[in-house]
Amino acid sequence: MHLRLRPSSSQFRYAVTYILITATALVFLNIYAAATMRKLAFSAQESSMLDKAQLISTSLGGVKELTEDSVGQAIDTLDDVHMTRIVVTDPSGYAVYDSMRVQNEQGKLLLLPEIVQALGNQDVLYCCYDDGVLESRAAMPVFSANQLIGAVYLMEYDTEEGKMIATLQTNILRISLVMEGVVICFSIVFSAAFSRRMRRILESIRTVRKGDYSNKIKIRGHDEVEQLANEFNDLTDRLQTSEQRRRQFVSDASHELKTPLASIKLLTDSILQNEMDETTIREFVGDIGGEADRLTRLSQKLLELTKIDSHADEERELIDVASVAERVARMLTPIAQQRDISIEVHVPVGCTVMTIEDDLYQILFNLAENGLKYNVTGGWLGICAERNDEEVILTVSDNGVGIPPGAMSHIFERFYRVDKARSREAGGAGLGLSIVHDMVERNYGTIRVSARDGGGTCFTVTFPYIAMEVEE
Ligand code: ADP
Repeated sequence: MHLRLRPSSSQFRYAVTYILITATALVFLNIYAAATMRKLAFSAQESSMLDKAQLISTSLGGVKELTEDSVGQAIDTLDDVHMTRIVVTDPSGYAVYDSMRVQNEQGKLLLLPEIVQALGNQDVLYCCYDDGVLESRAAMPVFSANQLIGAVYLMEYDTEEGKMIATLQTNILRISLVMEGVVICFSIVFSAAFSRRMRRILESIRTVRKGDYSNKIKIRGHDEVEQLANEFNDLTDRLQTSEQRRRQFVSDASHELKTPLASIKLLTDSILQNEMDETTIREFVGDIGGEADRLTRLSQKLLELTKIDSHADEERELIDVASVAERVARMLTPIAQQRDISIEVHVPVGCTVMTIEDDLYQILFNLAENGLKYNVTGGWLGICAERNDEEVILTVSDNGVGIPPGAMSHIFERFYRVDKARSREAGGAGLGLSIVHDMVERNYGTIRVSARDGGGTCFTVTFPYIAMEVEE
């Protein structure tokens, strides 16, 4: 096990917290157990002392005069009054009887506090425990014919009971120490395991920060740490995907830029190195211009793509699809006429969607432009819309060359082109549909493509329908 108990580590803090909490609980447990044991022993001892003092006091009540003999005889007749010390005094506090062999104070004035209180007509009881000894004292006045004739004083020095209390206290203390030891071991083991898992997560974060997105955290358990690890793994998966997409995009974009640049270089080299007549030079320069146009279109599309990412929060407004569709058709009419393609627009008024107008225009324009680019002379292009209570459904269809079924799932990918030569000829870079796809998504819509019955392609874009408020 790898232990690193630095005071700042969570492992150290957890261990110390557990240990302190359990140590405090165990200290309280010990204090409470010791106090309860003493209380129980004291109350048992006190009631026994009181009974015995009562018994002696009552039996002495029948004696006329308290003398050593009369008291000795009276006590001898009683069973079960064995005490460490029994003293009986006369009313002035002189001991007439003292059961002690050593330090016998019989005949002496014995003004112990308990005796003084008993001669003042009070019953006295006192218990204490010290160092394995339970010491109890009791004193009581002695009356004969309602006359105070003296006091009885009992003292018990109980080592057996005291030892029992001491043993119990020691045992509870030992058990507590063992428990605390176990708690210390467990808290070190658990907090070490916890910190080890946290360290693993930290190491993975550092590795991922260096760019190794394939790094995954493997943590077992069904707790928050495992959830944290799973969330982190998900996050790195996403980072990996977006990093791959970014790299792919950069490599595709540079490849696309390289092709026209290589053509321009080739054409200029040819002009410079070869003797050419003016017509050929003009032709070559024209080609250079064409390649430059391609570069301009490409950089425009790349700019559009970056705009989609940076204008995600732009304000949306309710737009009537009809006016936008008409505008798109108007813009494309000259190209359509060149190729003898007819454009039909069927968009009823009232098909309103919450969007950015430029986005809607761009979506319809790119789809319709493709419908013309990948069409045949004398073909047809349709821009239609319909709506129900929830959705506005836009369709852009044509009876052109169509898309092969195997390519349908790829056409929204960046730089994907079904027929590279045809697309390049038509000035495409394989970015139009991916721009459309991203724009539809950021406007909470969906897009799908299907083959049209009788040839051609149909793109269907669906947006949530939001009704325009009519001013009264
Ligand atoms: P491009 O700029 O090359 O047109 P797009 O992203 O707009 O790129 O389209 C991707 C590919 O999908 C095109 O290269 C083309 O092969 C195909 N495509 C798109 N629209 C149509 C369509 N209406 N009919 C046939 N093929 C289409």
